Amino acid sequence: MMGFILQNRFQVLGLGNPMKEKTNAISGGCFCGAIRYRFTEPKGTCLCYCENCRKVSGAQSLAWIGIKRTELEIIKGEPATFIAPNGTTWSFCSSCGTTLFWNPKEAGPFTVTIGSLDDPAAFPPADTSYEEDRLSWDHLYKP
Ligand SMILES: [Zn+2]
Ligand SMILES: [Zn+2]
Repeated sequence: MMGFILQNRFQVLGLGNPMKEKTNAISGGCFCGAIRYRFTEPKGTCLCYCENCRKVSGAQSLAWIGIKRTELEIIKGEPATFIAPNGTTWSFCSSCGTTLFWNPKEAGPFTVTIGSLDDPAAFPPADTSYEEDRLSWDHLYKP
């Protein structure tokens, strides 16, 4: 429990977590470099065509990797947040605008944009969602 509290405090301070040095961490960050993060134990990947993803990214679709929210460690900067009409929270860089995370209001998936990973090519989406919202000119991705 103490470790959990400390970890969160270090996350807030943007100091990383000296209590637990992460090995095989997956890292990423925003375009301008103000925000850096890392996590371990990725759960799954998905390419989403929903309108929320489209609006928040300004792109026709958005690729995600699911993680356990307690695995996310912000190692630099502090993401800005936007609460969507459906009550879910989006995190992004307030300087360059890169969409970073999506966090539902209740327990559930916590997701990181694959496009913000340092090695996005290593994480091809294994599934698609909201295909019915896909724009007619956008290719349907076949995992
Ligand atoms: Zn940035
Ligand atoms: Zn979506």
